[in-house]
Amino acid sequence: MTGLRLMAVHAHPDDESSKGAATAAKYVAEGNEVLVVTLTGGERGSILNPAMDVPGILDRIEEVRREEMAAAAKALGVQQRWLGFVDSGLPEGDPLPPLPEGCFALVPLEESTEALVRVVREFRPHVMTTYDEMGGYPHPDHIRCHEVSVAAFEAAGDPERFPDAGEPWTPSKLYYNHGFSAARLELFADEYARMGEPFPMQDWLDRIRTYAKERGDIMGRVTTQVECGKYFPQRDDALRAHATQIDPNGIFFAIPLEMQQRLWPTEEFELARTRVRTAIPETDLFAGIDDTDEDPDR
Ligand SMILES: [Zn+2]
Repeated sequence: MTGLRLMAVHAHPDDESSKGAATAAKYVAEGNEVLVVTLTGGERGSILNPAMDVPGILDRIEEVRREEMAAAAKALGVQQRWLGFVDSGLPEGDPLPPLPEGCFALVPLEESTEALVRVVREFRPHVMTTYDEMGGYPHPDHIRCHEVSVAAFEAAGDPERFPDAGEPWTPSKLYYNHGFSAARLELFADEYARMGEPFPMQDWLDRIRTYAKERGDIMGRVTTQVECGKYFPQRDDALRAHATQIDPNGIFFAIPLEMQQRLWPTEEFELARTRVRTAIPETDLFAGIDDTDEDPDR
């Protein structure tokens, strides 16, 4: 299907490149529109790539992250919008320090929801993606991203909610991104064992095994696997565009591209809400959506 619209809601610049990026690139390549909505500016991200930890970068980190985001969007072929909220940072310590005043996670949900509803009503997505209720990982902005996306998905089509935020539009489906699967890493680990080489992501695998033992592998929640291996190079280009955040010698690039394309050429999603009929498991986020449903007067 072509001519459909996908909105990927993310907490920080770089999240769009590590979660569902190849799927986004695929839908663009196939003639659909993809809009990445970035809720915060990533102002509180530290420099995670040693090569970029040089004088002059941290002083203008906001500007640098905007440039990086533009380059990543170009690599994926997606449109991108900033929602303008301020990064909450990842609180660390025991006890945890309070969140900084004015940050995204402290903005009243009604206010952030209205801002997102406005963009939903403008872009009119058929499908939205966001994070699960745990945020995918427990950053306050990721959890808030989940809350605000679900709230906007529910409210955007209701003319009584946020009447000043544009003409109502009802998106058909809402998905959660699920990237961190134990099953996927186990497969790569087996391949390294077969080759007689140490597995470069052993630490990750150990952590993810512990998590999977407690709560079950995330694959148990996955409803939808999108074949997108062909677009992994674009995903990697987008990741590398976030030069302050992503170390090109780091874990994101530890497994050779060819091996990823051969053994696990999909990205995983969980269908969280749907207003159309579809059959699980799915291979397409737009499954069940009939674009002739669109109001012909528009
Ligand atoms: Zn993030």
